[in-house]
Amino acid sequence: MTFSLRVVVVASVLVLTLVSIFFVSGYQLARRNEENTLLIEASISPTATEQLPSVVPTTVSPTPTPVNNNNFSLDYDYPPTTQKSGTVRIPILTYHHIAELPEKSSSKPYYVTPIMFERQLQYLKDKNYKVVTAQEFYELLKKGKNPSQKTVMLTFDDGSKDNYKNAYPLLKKYGFPGVFYINSSKLQITKTQLKEMSDNGMSIESHTASHKDLKKITDQSELESEIIGSKYAIEKITGRKVYSVSYPGCTYNDRVVDVAVMAGYKFGVTCSKYIDHYPSRLFALSRMHIYNDFTNFKKRLSGYWIIP
Ligand SMILES: [Zn+2]
Repeated sequence: MTFSLRVVVVASVLVLTLVSIFFVSGYQLARRNEENTLLIEASISPTATEQLPSVVPTTVSPTPTPVNNNNFSLDYDYPPTTQKSGTVRIPILTYHHIAELPEKSSSKPYYVTPIMFERQLQYLKDKNYKVVTAQEFYELLKKGKNPSQKTVMLTFDDGSKDNYKNAYPLLKKYGFPGVFYINSSKLQITKTQLKEMSDNGMSIESHTASHKDLKKITDQSELESEIIGSKYAIEKITGRKVYSVSYPGCTYNDRVVDVAVMAGYKFGVTCSKYIDHYPSRLFALSRMHIYNDFTNFKKRLSGYWIIP
């Protein structure tokens, strides 16, 4: 073998060795990466599996209506009434019973049927209303100007069983909070149910302890126990702060307001004809009564106080 041939052979062996080392180590590297990837996948796979829906939907769910956060001046079915300067426009609506209409005609104004109530909720959704809790209402009112989105607060007085049975499931269905004014010493909805409602975003608020006419209570300690006692009793049930009081029969005076302020309430609601509120009059806020009447409901949202 000549010297040059020997050089070629040695060089070829060297090249082959280097090439094979390169390939083997490359393979090992790739393998190791793959193992790492698998390990990573293994570590995340349980969660990833859990997140998958157990049943693959066969139809595509409809796209939810986009929320317009700047629709305050838009899209009213009745042109809104003129607003006084210095007020904040957030209609507060009052319901009592959400149930089938009773026989007795004098009780009928206090009833809205579940079908009508759902129609009203659907309307609020279609018109892009923001429905607020007692706390959210208070925070918006404190800002002293109209919200950028159409806003409404739905209130329910007296805490009857149908509020839990009929109003609450529909509110939950639409993702809206309701503000329930209950009598803490005359509970109709159970404590467990009230806690459930509170845990699901409803505001459980005070309609005093026993629904007495507050203006007629002359004994100061009795007045305090009606207003202050009910606040603490409800907070104990829900574990959440009570923001407001609804005066039974919508009657109140300065003495009543003084006790409510002392108790730590942030606002008080009565009944009236307006959807606009002065932030300086937090303890005399107007609420509009709602009837089992769809047209009247739409008119009241625009500020018209018309009896159906
Ligand atoms: Zn009442």
